[in-house]
Amino acid sequence: MSKIQNKQTCLVHAPRKAPQYIETVQPPLFRASTIIFKNTDALFNRHWTDAYDYSYGTHGTPTTFTLADNIAQIEGGQHSLLTPSGLSAINLVNSCFLSHGDEVWVPDNIYGPNMEHLRNLHQRYGIEVKIYNALEHESFQPTSKTKLLWLEAAGSVSLEFPDLKRLVRKARQSGILTALDNTWGAGLAFNAFDFSDEHLSVDLTVHALTKYPSGGADILMGSVVTRDRKLYQQLFRMHAIQGISISGDDAAQIQRSLAHMQLRYQQQSTNTIVLLNWLKQQPEFVQVLHPADENSPGHQYWKETCIDKQSAGLVSVIFKPEYDLESVRKFCDQLRLFKLGFSWGGPVSLVMLYQLKEMRTLECTHLKEGVLVRFCIGLEAVDDLITDIQQALQVLR
Ligand SMILES: *Cc1c(COP(=O)(O)O)cnc(C)c1O
Repeated sequence: MSKIQNKQTCLVHAPRKAPQYIETVQPPLFRASTIIFKNTDALFNRHWTDAYDYSYGTHGTPTTFTLADNIAQIEGGQHSLLTPSGLSAINLVNSCFLSHGDEVWVPDNIYGPNMEHLRNLHQRYGIEVKIYNALEHESFQPTSKTKLLWLEAAGSVSLEFPDLKRLVRKARQSGILTALDNTWGAGLAFNAFDFSDEHLSVDLTVHALTKYPSGGADILMGSVVTRDRKLYQQLFRMHAIQGISISGDDAAQIQRSLAHMQLRYQQQSTNTIVLLNWLKQQPEFVQVLHPADENSPGHQYWKETCIDKQSAGLVSVIFKPEYDLESVRKFCDQLRLFKLGFSWGGPVSLVMLYQLKEMRTLECTHLKEGVLVRFCIGLEAVDDLITDIQQALQVLR
């Protein structure tokens, strides 16, 4: 092409292009809605469902597919889809596999917004939502209408580790699809696609990449992983027709953080165990909840499931009944290093308080009465975190 004279056109058509042969540690970042076809032949022969064929930004770019492949590999799956948040990954599974008249089973301690989402599906589309106790596989009673079993290991807030093996085995025997919220294990604590000697596997995992993969408390993203090509194709189609897509910049940031995710996970896990042992000695708490603790609900299932006895950086405490909500609020407000906020897996330690009774449907005899406080361990020195909790406890003493 002859030299462009018009400055405005020059501004749009940059003269220099990145060479194809240059290699960098981090993969190149693609930002795209439009992907330019070489010619009409390429346009008419495009395969938008193929991850190595690029047609439009919502269907994926090399940046998003690189991250998707990485997440699938970490979790022990084959295929992965990325969504703008963990909750939208949950939504993708529910809207892809549940139809009018179907029944879905969820544990009582499931991630709260998933329950809200399912209640909404119940009201609008007549999907039946049944609740089971994650510690008692007998409480999961599938019927001929049961389509999907949700699992979460460990459960949200109260951190019970579920009887994964027996629950998954029962679902498999009845031909029911299993989906596990894998955010706590992050694909590191156990392999959801092969967690026992019998190669038991769930069908789908959902992961809030917002937590450990991001590691920065700054980016929202989610994933759905499977090993099954047919399930993947169904999900891919639903993902496409719902217009679910993520930003290339966000994907590149998470890709960058993956290199040190395991190191962060291990450090936070180790520090949490140190904190756990200290918390157990404090007189204010009636119960300390962490799957690695032998008195915690589901400890035996954690032991039979988790590789190298790993666990996420979360520990919850239940205050003795004499400490009412007011005094627990004072304690939380007195903390300096622990910040009051949702989420976890980031560099800054977080605290959140809950009134469990209002959140559970079933009777939970395994949990003591009292206000619950959940600590999420960041990357601070654990001694400083202990000192912080100690000084905040003074307001109660
Ligand atoms: C945070 C979280 C989610 C949702 O992730 P977002 O990206 O915040 O929407 C889902 N499940 C669990 C267990 C979580 O902790």
